[in-house]
Amino acid sequence: MKVIRTVKELQKQIKDLHLSPVGLVPTMGALHKGHLSLVRNAITQCPLVVISIYVNPTQFNDKKDLKNYPRDIQSDLDLLRKVTRKDDIIFIPDDKEIYPVEDKRIFHFGNLDNVMEALHRPGHFNGVAQVVGRLFDIVKPDVAYFGMKDFQQIAVIKELVRQYKYNVKIVGNPIIREPDGLAMSSRNRLLEPEMRKKVPLIYKTISSASGMIHKNTISEIRNYVRGTIEKANGLHVEYFEIVDDTKLKPVSTRREMKKGNRYYGCIAVQAGKIRLIDNIEFPLV
Ligand code: AMP
Repeated sequence: MKVIRTVKELQKQIKDLHLSPVGLVPTMGALHKGHLSLVRNAITQCPLVVISIYVNPTQFNDKKDLKNYPRDIQSDLDLLRKVTRKDDIIFIPDDKEIYPVEDKRIFHFGNLDNVMEALHRPGHFNGVAQVVGRLFDIVKPDVAYFGMKDFQQIAVIKELVRQYKYNVKIVGNPIIREPDGLAMSSRNRLLEPEMRKKVPLIYKTISSASGMIHKNTISEIRNYVRGTIEKANGLHVEYFEIVDDTKLKPVSTRREMKKGNRYYGCIAVQAGKIRLIDNIEFPLV
């Protein structure tokens, strides 16, 4: 693999290699097996894969979160060396490479701006759209890989592609979990040991909830999720919504759920100082 830090050098390499399709895996580093599953999938489909590592300041609505976000480039490169090929590129730009001038663009994503993460992290998806748009412009990938863990992010990026007519296919990859069910996340390493023991309850609870869809009302399921998780000291459910996978419109009654659509239960939990998200499909059959 090659490590490249400037846009100019990256574009020269991509041009000289002349390989297609080009795959892009955007990350913020502090890599784990979830990220590596995206890279592995990209490698099976694309002869050239660009993996970006960039902690994008514009998507952090909380400055403390940005400051504390884990960074470990050395360990990231060690992990990537094991899964990448000779020509694959690790792109590690600094702020000036991504934003040579301040990015003042404001994006509008309709209903996607009015639910779940968008309500609790104002400006977050605008920042995500800025950085992903920039990476698309720089790399010009044919395929870009994202994790289903960031469920709403995938919908937002598909909408970005639609609105700005990017010629890129968006692939969503399944959530990779720890053996106890906790969705892997760079933020997990910030959890205090006592809290780490409690948080598998999140996945355990939404898993049981997904099996309740035929016997219980939506409001019973919501109460069950909140009640069960909040019994653990220090866990607070910020939201739990059951939404369809395209418009992400929260359903409030079972009748609103149409056969043929896919529905997911999406949750955000404040676990002490750390905020975690997860989701699971609520299958109708
Ligand atoms: P991040 O570094 O958190 O911005 O994540 C980079 C990409 O990895 C995003 O598309 C995430 O959705 C994806 N990702 C993060 N955690 C997981 C996971 N546990 N399983 C699958 N994909 C993940």
